[in-house]
Amino acid sequence: MTDLVPLLLTPGPLTTSESTKRAMLRDWGSRDGRFVEMNARIRRRLVELAHGEGRFAAIPLQGSGTFAVEGMLGTMLPRDGKILLCINGAYGHRMARIVEMLGRAAVEYETAEDTPIDPAEVGRRLDADPAITHVAIVQCETTSGVLNPVAAVAAEVARHGRRLLIDAMSAFGALPLDTREIACDAIAASSNKCLEGVPGMGFVIARLEAIAECEGNAHALSLDLHDQWRFMERAGQWRFTPPTHVIAAFDQALTEHAEEGGVAGRGARYRENCRILVDGMRAMGFETLLPDALQAPIIVTFHMPADPNFAFQTFYDQLRDRGFVIYPGKLTVADSFRIGCIGRLSANDMQDALAAIAATLAGMGVTNCGPVPVARRATA
Ligand SMILES: *Cc1c(COP(=O)(O)O)cnc(C)c1O
Repeated sequence: MTDLVPLLLTPGPLTTSESTKRAMLRDWGSRDGRFVEMNARIRRRLVELAHGEGRFAAIPLQGSGTFAVEGMLGTMLPRDGKILLCINGAYGHRMARIVEMLGRAAVEYETAEDTPIDPAEVGRRLDADPAITHVAIVQCETTSGVLNPVAAVAAEVARHGRRLLIDAMSAFGALPLDTREIACDAIAASSNKCLEGVPGMGFVIARLEAIAECEGNAHALSLDLHDQWRFMERAGQWRFTPPTHVIAAFDQALTEHAEEGGVAGRGARYRENCRILVDGMRAMGFETLLPDALQAPIIVTFHMPADPNFAFQTFYDQLRDRGFVIYPGKLTVADSFRIGCIGRLSANDMQDALAAIAATLAGMGVTNCGPVPVARRATA
């Protein structure tokens, strides 16, 4: 065993800075005035990232990102509401599962995992069904890495007088989501993706007028965002034990996000990471699932090589031993694996990862990194 700490080329949890990790070395009393201040600062910064000052509130919630999505759907969707779920991957399907468990009325508009949601089709579905009150969409579907046209979908939803809920989990902080231009009721994300904090906290940035109407909607006390919001506004405290160390790390991570130039700066580094990765992998013969125009600079899906010497588990294990953790595929349309561009990773780290990949493939005797030809892929 080696104690080499690998870099995480995954969609989260991901590699965090030394200073963010160090911010966790102190215990906080949850009623300590400085902790209360830190919490207020985090909430204010999150609203600023969405350009929602005076119109939106950030409501943090204990747990992973899914807790925030479940809190958002359960709280914002009235019991007699009906939601149109835009699905093109596992996270869209997860929202459908949540809504089903909530017992709320839902309809699904699904496209293939490599195909973005079509705003015009959303418009047609809304025309056809006046009972639909809400629409939900995933900004970057982490299953494939595809970017959905959230702004155009938001415009359709607004034109039809319906309300939009956005799972921006894997994009928030790196891709713009400006609530002055994108009409929505709520945005869900978490501490441990593009904001580069540690896992343990989700949050929802909710439109004030919308969340104010949501009393009594929620199905679960711990996921009731209206209650969490009201309590936090009144007392400055969390209702239940806050993840104090996660919050302290997140405060530091948000400072570093601002120092990097905010959403524009972080997004630029990730785009460069993505470009280096895709160029380098293509040079080795790998093919990406998505054309560049549909690819978000978050995580890239590659087709499995057809070379008989290639075995994913061996590739994965040997790459980890060289200091890089990648991610298995989650697609139903193709045999694939994924490599993330997010987290505290530099251009140099991406170059090092490519060198480790080349060395690993050479060691395995893989000479052809191209995928199984499409004609033979169909039955896979
Ligand atoms: C990561 C992610 C989530 C939440 O996943 P957790 O494992 O609960 O943190 C939700 N939606 C998307 C698009 C994601 O990438």
